[in-house]
Amino acid sequence: CFITLEGGEGAGKSTLARSLAERLRMAGVEVDLTREPGGSPKAEAIRETILSGQIKPHGPFIEALMFSAARIDHIDRRIRPALVRGEWVICDRFIDSTRAYQGTLGRIDPALLAELEQVTIDGLTPDLTLILDLDPKTGLARAAKRRSPGEGKDRFEGENLAFHRKLRAAYLAIAEKEPERCAVLDASQPPEKLAEAAWEVLCERLPL
Ligand code: C5P
Repeated sequence: CFITLEGGEGAGKSTLARSLAERLRMAGVEVDLTREPGGSPKAEAIRETILSGQIKPHGPFIEALMFSAARIDHIDRRIRPALVRGEWVICDRFIDSTRAYQGTLGRIDPALLAELEQVTIDGLTPDLTLILDLDPKTGLARAAKRRSPGEGKDRFEGENLAFHRKLRAAYLAIAEKEPERCAVLDASQPPEKLAEAAWEVLCERLPL
């Protein structure tokens, strides 16, 4: 099964991803825990050039193309092979991040982005997408708190609240449009409770 985790900054995706991977392994499932942008050496290199500001893509569409190139490599070299081996894959961010950040916030034509997505994933739609929903004020406070001294800010931490509210709305709109694939979780609850709620969804929806 292919599970993706989505949400804004500071929602707790990475912590939840680790905790779900651990629970699945305890249940005897082989798990490959990965992330985007990145997840394979070439895709990580693209992530690094964009997030470090080394290369500033000229606008959201070029950025979407670069993240899509990274995604194709990640899928070909890591995700599909793992699924073929019978492993479960948990990916921290996937297509919905592109839809929300580059699509909704970057105002790319949805039809064009949908075509790019189809070409990129070539049928690899997640079996389940957990959307971690959180008031952006809480998320941004968490993101600032977890940062170690001297570490740079997250890419969008400097953006105003309206930006992060739009992002939240974009994710909720995706969940509403695709309720069979997506489940929205209240990410304001403590990590253990969030993990428990996510586990319940997994047990309900996936062949465990
Ligand atoms: O999830 P993570 O914090 O590792 O993501 C790194 C950064 O890349 C985040 O600030 C996120 O907002 C950004 N990002 C993006 N477009 C994507 C995926 C992530 O701008 N498609």
